Amino acid sequence: MPALPLHLDTPLFRTSEAYSKSGRPLWLKLDALQPSGSFKLRGVGRLCQHEVENGAGEIFCASGGNAGIAAAYAGRALGVPVTIVVPETTSVEVRLLIEATGAAVLVHGAVFDAANAHAIALAEARKAAYVHPFDHPLLWEGHGTLIDEVVAKGAEFDCVIASVGGGGLMAGIVEGLRRNGLSHVPVIAVETEGAASLNASVMAGERVTLPAITSIANSLGARQVAQHVFELPSSHPIESVTVSDADAVAACLKFADAYRILVEPACGAVLAVADVHAGLLSRFQNPLIEVCGGIGVSLAKLRAWQETLL
Ligand SMILES: *Cc1c(COP(=O)(O)O)cnc(C)c1O
Repeated sequence: MPALPLHLDTPLFRTSEAYSKSGRPLWLKLDALQPSGSFKLRGVGRLCQHEVENGAGEIFCASGGNAGIAAAYAGRALGVPVTIVVPETTSVEVRLLIEATGAAVLVHGAVFDAANAHAIALAEARKAAYVHPFDHPLLWEGHGTLIDEVVAKGAEFDCVIASVGGGGLMAGIVEGLRRNGLSHVPVIAVETEGAASLNASVMAGERVTLPAITSIANSLGARQVAQHVFELPSSHPIESVTVSDADAVAACLKFADAYRILVEPACGAVLAVADVHAGLLSRFQNPLIEVCGGIGVSLAKLRAWQETLL
């Protein structure tokens, strides 16, 4: 018997047809309501559980924020110490939120790759478990539970809209669709301009490493998607689209007013698709939107982005 999962079965809302320019009613899978603030707990929780069941007494994770707080939450639930290595770009607010969840935070390196290399080295030196934020089969297995839950509720949907950073969420959604006999259901993969590593790779026909991340949606700021994620479009229908930072922030504000929930621009990007790419959705009757959430947002941040971008 596997242990009980650490994540929650989140609510599924239905918007009115008038909510977006697509004219379609949208299913909203509210993973912003996970105790860690984002879907990340699904996969990170699964992976941490597996490591602890296999004897790990300590966990290291590199993260810009949401994977880190998910690992911190999982470690506390499992009773093992957790250290999160964050790059210098991670805000003080996010560092404090991770520490408040009970994990130690180390700041290392200017970018994620440097923080990640440090986390791997520390875990090796201390014989501890290392948790990657997006590139591990158990993460994908865990993220796939969001599709299991929607299917278990009997909701009919004919496409899934989700954002892509390193692509762990999308890989999990594809796995969730496959294990529920829904391999034909397309995924619309959303990135912001300036963080569009999947879109650039699809265009180039090879896995591209972006020279820099220039979007405010830092949870989407992987300079390169995982190899498995780059290969997914050859075995599953995936459409890659981009929106601007301004579109993402406008969608965060609209969603906050409508549902009284704050989400990061990484999540606003997904919500924006039903307005910005309304034509793309005309092929579908019942789009499902993964409202991925994120802790890197506040009223003050939304206001500041609104002032500079809108
Ligand atoms: C991590 C994250 C993403 C992107 O997930 P990947 O698995 O890196 O593609 C999107 N939105 C939020 C809020 C996240 O925390």
